[in-house]
Amino acid sequence: MSTLPTLPDDWNTALVVVAHPDDIEYGLAAAVDRWTSDGRTVTYLLATHGEAGIDTMDPAEAAVVRAQEERDGAVEVGVDVVEFLDHSDGVLEYGLDLRRDIARVIRARRPEALFCLTHRERFAGGGTNQADHRVVGQAAMDAARDAGNRWVHPELNTDDEPWGGTKFIAYANAPQPTHALDVTGHFDAAVASLEAHRQYLDALGEDYPSPRELLTGILTGGGALTGTQHGVGFEVFDL
Ligand SMILES: [Zn+2]
Repeated sequence: MSTLPTLPDDWNTALVVVAHPDDIEYGLAAAVDRWTSDGRTVTYLLATHGEAGIDTMDPAEAAVVRAQEERDGAVEVGVDVVEFLDHSDGVLEYGLDLRRDIARVIRARRPEALFCLTHRERFAGGGTNQADHRVVGQAAMDAARDAGNRWVHPELNTDDEPWGGTKFIAYANAPQPTHALDVTGHFDAAVASLEAHRQYLDALGEDYPSPRELLTGILTGGGALTGTQHGVGFEVFDL
């Protein structure tokens, strides 16, 4: 496979928008660690608390456990701002409520770059993507536009001024990446960020691959896109 162009580099502030605790930790967190190591500001926004993600745990308890696991995983890659919306896990709906809620945070944080999990029907490895991921990825793209227009969601105007400075949105784990980032040297931090999801991973059973095994596959595969040991591929859309 030939290598891909390097991810756009002309930004200092990024917002990562995903559906669930753990979504960032299957590869994207390695890139986050590189950016925070560079001194860039990266913050997280999650649409749900992941409360439907542990079959053996009541959702009310799982919401608390998984939110804390996300905060713990974020710290491992240099992120200390993790915000949760209160949309429902597993039944996320694309719509104006979700767009407005994401746009509100974009206006408040004023990111130059947005990152999400892929909104496509398949992951890079060929596996079928989940509805919540597709919905959040699409809503984030649209919310970036909304955030810059004071006449869309005018009720947000009492909080923050419109922000139209987001330059691009990039989707990790996409089946047809357009760009890639070398994350060699950030593998261990990525593993630590996924290992923070201890109760979630424990509930998946002993046969489920370890964080180190999973990320070896994902980040080595990404390395084929960068021509380095470890890499992350992105599908990039200019905004
Ligand atoms: Zn997820």
